[in-house]
Amino acid sequence: MTDKNELLAGVSEASVESEFFSPIPAGYKKGKTKYVIVMGTVMSGLGKGIFSSCLAKLMQDKGLKVAPIKLEGYLNIDSGTLNPFRHGEVFVLDDGMECDMDLGTYERMLDQNLSRENFSTSGQIYRSILDKERHGDYLGRDVQMIPHVTGEVKFKLRTLAMKSNADIVFVEIGGTAGDLENAFYIEAMRELAYEEGAHSCCFVALTYILEPRTLGEQKSKAAQLGIKQLMQSGIQPDIIACRAANTVSEKVRQKISVYSNVPIGRVVSLADSASIYQIPAMLRDCGMDFEVLRLLHIEDRIDLRKERIEWAKWCDFTDKIGKEKHEVTIGITGKYTSVRDSYASIINALEHSGIALGCKVKIEWIDTSVITDKNAAEHLKDVDGIIVPGGFGVRGTEGKIACIKYARANNMPFLGICLGFQMAVIEFARNVCGLKKANSTEIEPACTEPVIDILPEQKKIEGLGGNMRLGGRDIETKPDTMAFKLFGNSSTIRMRFRHRYEVDPRYIETLEKAGLLFSGKAPNQPIMQILELPAHPYFIATQAHPCLTSRPLHPQPMFVGLVAAAMTGTKDNKNAAGILRTVEKVCG
Ligand code: GLN
Repeated sequence: MTDKNELLAGVSEASVESEFFSPIPAGYKKGKTKYVIVMGTVMSGLGKGIFSSCLAKLMQDKGLKVAPIKLEGYLNIDSGTLNPFRHGEVFVLDDGMECDMDLGTYERMLDQNLSRENFSTSGQIYRSILDKERHGDYLGRDVQMIPHVTGEVKFKLRTLAMKSNADIVFVEIGGTAGDLENAFYIEAMRELAYEEGAHSCCFVALTYILEPRTLGEQKSKAAQLGIKQLMQSGIQPDIIACRAANTVSEKVRQKISVYSNVPIGRVVSLADSASIYQIPAMLRDCGMDFEVLRLLHIEDRIDLRKERIEWAKWCDFTDKIGKEKHEVTIGITGKYTSVRDSYASIINALEHSGIALGCKVKIEWIDTSVITDKNAAEHLKDVDGIIVPGGFGVRGTEGKIACIKYARANNMPFLGICLGFQMAVIEFARNVCGLKKANSTEIEPACTEPVIDILPEQKKIEGLGGNMRLGGRDIETKPDTMAFKLFGNSSTIRMRFRHRYEVDPRYIETLEKAGLLFSGKAPNQPIMQILELPAHPYFIATQAHPCLTSRPLHPQPMFVGLVAAAMTGTKDNKNAAGILRTVEKVCG
């Protein structure tokens, strides 16, 4: 709970008595941090996070310190309880925050770890206000949407500005202008711009240009209405980014310019792009980076020498996109097979590894609810390797186990992630150790051979929400194992976790005696975190989510290993050394 002094820091007593109520963190210097505020109109799903992260990357390249924040309209305290099928994957930060998948986009684009300060929901804002109200912090006032709720939003942004020491805070408002649930965020941004003064805030409106097939031409009306809605809320956009399937015509841009008071040079076309990693170049080509610098009066803060170096590194990466000489197909077994967003980080991690290895990675989604030991070979005949990703619940687990059995017995490259790690342990216990009844108590609570059981620390916790073993943890690797070598012979590595169940330590000896190697564990605790099969060219799984920390210029070694293994084909286990050499070349 915030104490009264913190709440009131920087606010004079008189202002508490008056209508001016805008708590400002102690030591906050107006003008030091600028704000780029990205809002959506017409419809959601325009890629505000992608746009905002690409623009932030261009600023970071110029030597500016950037800090993104996503403001979500929903009342959940975090994204942990959201169904990925409805809302995309739950991204987990190093500090354990379960947040929106856009935070993953920011981390990847900026190659920077973020924290809970970079994510907020309406639920968090209201909770904080209600806590303060019960604490008696509002000094007898009625607590109102304006100024208290909007004040809390501004306080959050300014706190981020202070703590990150950022030159620019990138604020992404979730949803679309006109949504009731986001209205107070938009009002807070209007107030922020007024309080911070001229050249402090740059408003970017993302909009959508329709191109109905029956007409065969682009229409700007929906975009005009969307922008009008923003202007009715007191926000004059400085830049309008027009998302569309094709390049937006000059005529349509002119129309939007006329109706919105935005010079045509700042009404830009953002057509669909094959890879999001090509968007920073699109933004540079239309001069958006310098427009923002000029609007915010911070041209004098940039370091052009640094920019040249960073941009060259980035172009080395993007130049390889689409020029891959090899191709592999990786099967991903998953419950949410129809929604790519549910597995966004895995798809990205495969893309990073593929680009680094000059190999196009095609993905085949595998619905395991129909897979059995008998038909696994048929279902997996077109894939060069498989990933069994994280998940919850019973559906499709037997099919996953059948796929893992096939991969183990046929030298097929395999990467198991979280639930995939647990399924690999069950498969090995059943089919190699002869523990026919082996299972996880998540799947079969009354199971008599619970090789996977709930963590002791989790048994005490009731209810769902923010209570799993969450966030970045160190992992101790065993010398001379695949895990040790993949991570550059490092005995301590770090990955991010999100689970309730683990290998029951009573079974470790039995499993290891039969040939399963636990090559990574939690320091000082018997929690198994990585497993591998020394007799197999590439069979590795982890209780963590390695996909969350893969970055374009730093692909995650377990994924690079998988793609490299899939490229070489694995008829025998002698390929392991070659795979490791390839990983070393890419990951250093
Ligand atoms: N359901 C499993 C657990 O809670 C795995 C979780 C996951 O894959 N993220 O441990």
